[in-house]
Amino acid sequence: MPALRVCSLYPELMNIYADRGNIAVLRARCEWRGLGFEHAAASLGEPLDPDAHDLFYMGGGQDRDQIAVAHDMAATKRDALHAAAGRGAVVLAVCGGYQLLGHSYELGGEQLPGVGLVDLHTVREAGPRLIGNCAIAGFENHGGRTYLGPAERPLGRVLSGHGNNGRDGFEGVHRDTVIGTYLHGPLLPKNIWLADRLIELALGVELQPLPDQRLEEGAHASALRAAGV
Ligand code: GLN
Repeated sequence: MPALRVCSLYPELMNIYADRGNIAVLRARCEWRGLGFEHAAASLGEPLDPDAHDLFYMGGGQDRDQIAVAHDMAATKRDALHAAAGRGAVVLAVCGGYQLLGHSYELGGEQLPGVGLVDLHTVREAGPRLIGNCAIAGFENHGGRTYLGPAERPLGRVLSGHGNNGRDGFEGVHRDTVIGTYLHGPLLPKNIWLADRLIELALGVELQPLPDQRLEEGAHASALRAAGV
């Protein structure tokens, strides 16, 4: 049986709203199917082996932690992430992590570098934080507004909530195996179909549904109701 090899980027710094719960979901859904699961981490100053992992994961973070992470990622992990995505490894980044997938995060007069995996930029503009439940997938709380480049596709469209910037109705980004999203909850416990899809993409396998998939359909419907959709 193949094993899903996951690498968490900056897990001690980038983990708002229990974003590490996404890892627990990936682990459980692999193990329930008899697939192996390996979990490694790479933090400040540590190099990244693009071939050693099938899925690279980064959660959300406070602005102050993102400053150190942004500079470190550009210096020590940018090339490896491009190589990994280029060979079809999955990159999943949530909120603060998502903001660093693009070209830059403009924060208080400073231009933080992104790794440039996708064509987007984020700006910490004046105005309220974008907070609340965002149907269909999770909870959002971010000050940065993200704008996709013209050829970039969003992960989804906002039915209720704010999404990337509160204006264009887009949420997240999805280019091949690279996914960024503002949604916590954490993301994957609320969207187990997405967890399974990521495992499929990362391992190049096709998975059969697990029995809890029916439960998720019910949860999904009540989340939409709660969000007034
Ligand atoms: N610090 C970023 C912002 O507020 C990201 C926050 C987060 O990851 N929840 O925009």
